[in-house]
Amino acid sequence: MKLITFSHENRTRIGVHDGDSVVDLADAAPALPTEMCAFLAAGRAALDAARSAVAGDQGRLDAASVRLLAPIPKPSKVLAVGLNYRDHIEETGMKTPEIPMIFNKQSTSVTGPFDPIHVPRASDKLDYEGELAVVIGRRCRHVPRDRAAEVIAGYCVADDVSVRDWQMRSATFTMGKSWDTHCPLGPWLTTADEVEPHTLRLETWVNGELRQNSNTEQLLFDCFTLVEHLSTAFTLEPGDVISTGTPSGAGALMNPRKYLVAGDVVKVEIEGLGAIENTCIEEPADTVLIEPSDRIG
Ligand code: MG
Repeated sequence: MKLITFSHENRTRIGVHDGDSVVDLADAAPALPTEMCAFLAAGRAALDAARSAVAGDQGRLDAASVRLLAPIPKPSKVLAVGLNYRDHIEETGMKTPEIPMIFNKQSTSVTGPFDPIHVPRASDKLDYEGELAVVIGRRCRHVPRDRAAEVIAGYCVADDVSVRDWQMRSATFTMGKSWDTHCPLGPWLTTADEVEPHTLRLETWVNGELRQNSNTEQLLFDCFTLVEHLSTAFTLEPGDVISTGTPSGAGALMNPRKYLVAGDVVKVEIEGLGAIENTCIEEPADTVLIEPSDRIG
């Protein structure tokens, strides 16, 4: 099942992408939560209800009439991994990590599968990283590797957009990895029953030029090992995202380097999971924001 968060006629809710149409679960299965994290937290019963809804005719919308948002628009955590593809480690010439190199992206960096990526006013070193993202389905802690599949709701495509100068100039990656719009996710959350996560082709194009061409079999620490490792420390919650790292071919490692500029179109596709495509635009003036203190509602 391809689970989506979408907006239609100015209302946001969840549904199932099914060929040329979308099943609006708020209409087809009104007892279900209308927000993805709550839906995932409702577990197997919710998934079964969604499957039944897809088998029926209720709540069908033309897929072209809806706007797809990130399947999890505001995850409680977005965790990510550096140096986790063998081909990427090789191109950097760095030592193979003995434990996963974890950093986090702020939830405010999440954006939709076809929404613009902002080229920061404060940097011209913008780069892409096509990645496989794991989405957690059950609240969990201390999950052994051999049970990790039980807590994974599904998988989607991510772009771990990076601001290289901000990433590299301090001891942690946080400031370089978390700018608003720098975590496109989607186009949908493919449920785990339909995915073998460790043999998937991953490709990234910039303006139609193939930049990354790899396979998740190159992962150093696979999805299940990452769940075990991360859950040793943190409670993982429904909707939490783990972006599993990028293969070789990011712009900063090309010779000469090729950073993203306004107008560039970045497409990331993963076999069986679909494609996301985001256009880079200059950071708009309206990102300057101090919300009024007397705002109501
Ligand atoms: Mg990355």
